[in-house]
Amino acid sequence: HSKSLGKGRITHYDAALNSVRERQLLIENDIRNGLDRDEFDVWYQPIVDARSLAMIGVEALVRWPRRPAGELKPDDFIAIAETSGLIYELGQFVLRRACNDLQAHSNLKLSVNISPAQFRDPDFEDKVANVLRRTRFPPARLQLEVTETYVLENPERAHMAITTLKTLGTSVALDDFGTGYSSIGYLRRFNFETIKIDKSLAGLVDDDEQASALVSGTIRIASALGMMVVAEGVENEKQMKMLRLAGCDQLQGYWFSEPMPLDNILHLRHLRQG
Ligand code: C2E
Ligand code: MG
Ligand code: MG
Ligand code: MG
Repeated sequence: HSKSLGKGRITHYDAALNSVRERQLLIENDIRNGLDRDEFDVWYQPIVDARSLAMIGVEALVRWPRRPAGELKPDDFIAIAETSGLIYELGQFVLRRACNDLQAHSNLKLSVNISPAQFRDPDFEDKVANVLRRTRFPPARLQLEVTETYVLENPERAHMAITTLKTLGTSVALDDFGTGYSSIGYLRRFNFETIKIDKSLAGLVDDDEQASALVSGTIRIASALGMMVVAEGVENEKQMKMLRLAGCDQLQGYWFSEPMPLDNILHLRHLRQG
């Protein structure tokens, strides 16, 4: 009796697993076609100076509006692009497109997300150098965003890549800080110029006093260590005020602007000042 029950369960489990795997393969195939058919776009979200609230840069964010089976968000396909190896091509596309787009807008800095898999590629630094050369994008205006996972995975390789990128003149930022396990002290060894406080933390500062103290403390320590601090996910006036007070250098979030196509960003005359 129990045998057949167990068997039934295994079959059910297999079916669920298969359908997850099938969906992944489907999306993987869609990404491959999407790259061939130019279905991806790059949108931009303003990053503002915390003092003046002027837009000083943008973060490039990939979009997939022309996927025939319907648009997917990056969170739904980046991981699949990573496991399938398609992230190399997709990542190169984003970097090239973004550098091309922003090249002529010399007052804006450009921040581009880089997946752990891309960073692991031994040719990564060369690929970045190539894009910079071909697009004639000034290296000093480019910042690459990496996540903690990557750094913890392979500290030696991370340290080397960050050092080489700095030699190129490009800076490296730690994205999504506060979602993982590592301390600022540890991360300091990698010489990140910038840390980006994760949006889940910005969401805490307007309602929870203790959490708010923790976030402010983090910001103060990072600043004291000489790092530039960016808060992402700023959604309302109260969060903006708290994060400015806590000493953030730069702010990013829906309160100022959602990610948009390049033309919309360039035509932005007024970001919300609060
Ligand atoms: P991220 O790098 O942390 O980017 C910030 C995400 O937060 C973006 O989501 C942005 O649209 C969203 N966001 C901005 N302001 C607010 C706000 O005020 N509130 C809230 N709730 N969200 C806000 P998006 O574009 O869906 O991207 C999600 C993640 O996908 C990114 O997180 C990044 O990890 C990854 N990603 C996006 N584009 C690329 C890319 O070109 N390459 C790689 N490797 N990853 C990318
Ligand atoms: Mg980012
Ligand atoms: Mg982030
Ligand atoms: Mg992220």
